[in-house]
Amino acid sequence: MTSWVDGAGGSSYDADNLPYGVFSRDGEEPRVGARIGEYVLDLAPVAATEMLDVHAVFGEPTLNELLRQGRPVWDSIRTWLVGLVSDEAERGLVEPHLVPLAEVELRMPFTVGDYVDFYASLDHASNVGRIFRPDQEPLLPNWRHLPVGYHGRGGTVVPSGTPVIRPSGQRRSPAGTEAGPEFGPSTRLDIEAELGFVIGDRSVLGSPIAADDFADHVFGVVGLNDWSARDIQAWEYVPLGPFLGKSFATSISAWVTPLAALDAAWTDLPGQDPEPLPYLAPGATRGLDIDVEVVLNGEVVSRPPYRTMYWSPAQMLAHLTVNGASTRPGDLFASGTISGPEPGQRGSFLELSWGGKEPMAGGRTFLEDGDEVVLRYSAPGASGGRIALGDVVGTVEPAR
Ligand code: MN
Repeated sequence: MTSWVDGAGGSSYDADNLPYGVFSRDGEEPRVGARIGEYVLDLAPVAATEMLDVHAVFGEPTLNELLRQGRPVWDSIRTWLVGLVSDEAERGLVEPHLVPLAEVELRMPFTVGDYVDFYASLDHASNVGRIFRPDQEPLLPNWRHLPVGYHGRGGTVVPSGTPVIRPSGQRRSPAGTEAGPEFGPSTRLDIEAELGFVIGDRSVLGSPIAADDFADHVFGVVGLNDWSARDIQAWEYVPLGPFLGKSFATSISAWVTPLAALDAAWTDLPGQDPEPLPYLAPGATRGLDIDVEVVLNGEVVSRPPYRTMYWSPAQMLAHLTVNGASTRPGDLFASGTISGPEPGQRGSFLELSWGGKEPMAGGRTFLEDGDEVVLRYSAPGASGGRIALGDVVGTVEPAR
């Protein structure tokens, strides 16, 4: 499965990858494209020429119409697309519609409906418990029985490259003082390196999605940075969970990697003890072997491994809908911070600097204005090499 497209063969964006996104060129309406090598394939004119039944979904300014189509259509489109870029006979049809990446602006790939963030890494949850509640058990009693999560803010999910404005808010008064809470720009701005799952097919109110039906409902994955203001979060989160400490911005990659591109990446997760309830499909805990890199101002500061998570993506979706909550195309759920067991595998600066007490190389703890964070992701591809997921880039701007 190697592409004839210039430079694509053997790269991390070869014919076994083909993520979808939304792009625009000068003076033209945004529409759907697929990435191959260093090009975007403009799908609308190719699909129209070939009279695909669903060609209209590629002229849309978001992926939501494609998401709405469901698994059989997603699979047939992918088969068609792989053929276009790997069969030399298609070159004449396709080549005029390859646009160099440098000539396009990548947009928000889909309109986010409901957004849920989980807390599915045992190492992350244990580290945060030790940092925030040093005199107690790191894990609360529910943690090993259900994937803990909260509803975030879909309207502030932004595409890679969008600047992140330092939020202001309340934080508790300095230790040892009797003063009330302070207000001001966050002094503990942080990242959370995560993976996001994009829901396609609509489900019916009152009908849970079984863990086994994951692939019928989830279209693909995005890289995700859950920016977090730890000082705001620490004061506000009891008893109802994260609120303004996280809702100011969540960045996702501009590319959505279809689940089909990750067929070779499925792997067994480390295991669950005690065995979870039957609706969480104990024994079917499959995760994804995705490597993450956290890059701060050009330096790799951490390498979180997604394969070490405790709760699987299918379990998160089953739990998210077990009460009958329905889903819509464009709903998004995220893994929670990905942290592995080693210190160099932690997915937040909160953990990398141990609550700010153990600065990282260069004396850094939390984010400063002007800092650039890039999250990079890669996974085994179907052709034996590695495929890349879309980067998630954000630069911190001063508080307003
Ligand atoms: Mn998070």
